[in-house]
Amino acid sequence: MINRERLVAEFMEMVRVDSESRREARMAALLTEKLRRLGFTTYVDDAGPKTGSDTGNLIARRSGSADAPALMFSAHMDTVSPGRGIKPLEEDGIIRSAGATVLGADDKAGVAAILEAVRVLQEQKLPHGDLELVFTTCEEVGLSGVKFLDFPRLKARMGYVLDSNGPAGTIINRGPSQDEIYAEMLGVAAHAGINPEDGVNAIQVASRAIAAMQLGRIDHETTANIGIISGGVAINIVPEKVMIKGETRSLQEQKRIKHTKIICETLERAAREGGAQLEVKVENIYPAMAVPEDSLVVRLAQKAARDIGLQPVVKSTGGGSDTHIFNEHGILSVNLGIAMQKVHTTDEFITVADLVMDAAYVLAVINAATARAAGKGASAF
Ligand code: ZN
Ligand code: CA
Repeated sequence: MINRERLVAEFMEMVRVDSESRREARMAALLTEKLRRLGFTTYVDDAGPKTGSDTGNLIARRSGSADAPALMFSAHMDTVSPGRGIKPLEEDGIIRSAGATVLGADDKAGVAAILEAVRVLQEQKLPHGDLELVFTTCEEVGLSGVKFLDFPRLKARMGYVLDSNGPAGTIINRGPSQDEIYAEMLGVAAHAGINPEDGVNAIQVASRAIAAMQLGRIDHETTANIGIISGGVAINIVPEKVMIKGETRSLQEQKRIKHTKIICETLERAAREGGAQLEVKVENIYPAMAVPEDSLVVRLAQKAARDIGLQPVVKSTGGGSDTHIFNEHGILSVNLGIAMQKVHTTDEFITVADLVMDAAYVLAVINAATARAAGKGASAF
């Protein structure tokens, strides 16, 4: 069914096209050409100027003849850096980069799996319902592409995002909400040797605050981190300004709100006690997602996994993805494992066997939706 050589060649072709976040235009052009040949109508939305990318998100659509629910499949076009001039190598069934860059299986393995699956559908003239494909920009920079996606264009009310670690059959139905916290601790500058008593050391005040915070894993569904701290200008100046950036996440909105508040209060207390000023800004980056396990989108994914001999595993994640934003806009979506490994490092790799399984799985999901609509295998639901 899945054409292994064709799939590997297309994956390699796509990772060779540079598409770091905000520079996805060449990838969008390549996909547009491929999708038109596969009988899809394509459309690039106007998210480009809003995200700072050289292209918008790519939406493709092909009507089906079967009376199955419309399905959306999505993957992101952008990669993290270093992601320019990627040289993919296949050796002993493993595809990795030559070493100086990431591979970009995150998320081009997802893109390749979707393309191969729809190509097999067309080749074999398999019946299917309406298909909508969404290839987003800027996922790796705060999900900003999907946040400006032209949602009214989409008809599908359920979808699959191919952008998780874990083998095919991994179905992510829950994910945390995330707050970003930006704080600036403002002390008073003074000469460190002549009049230090006139100064307020912002680094020391910030340090007291951070030392007093509960960070790391807060409970089984909540985490917190201070990831960046910078400040001071010279060793002989009592530092006036310190910038602190951190985040909180939780599967439960209330817990996230509560822990963000505790972190802000800890900063405020330290500022007050140390005679510093504090400016703090909190931004909720994406909402939590929680797709019911008994929803059709999950059950089709489970059925599809079993149909091709995989063990479905429904689970939560501590990471964020475009999936959160699709759910926020009423497209009930789960994130699927595509077995990409060591992502965001130059050791990133994927095995050919997994890539083939990813494509087979997308095809199985489409087939499961069609079969269910036709009444076949209905007992499995
Ligand atoms: Zn990704
Ligand atoms: Ca990523």
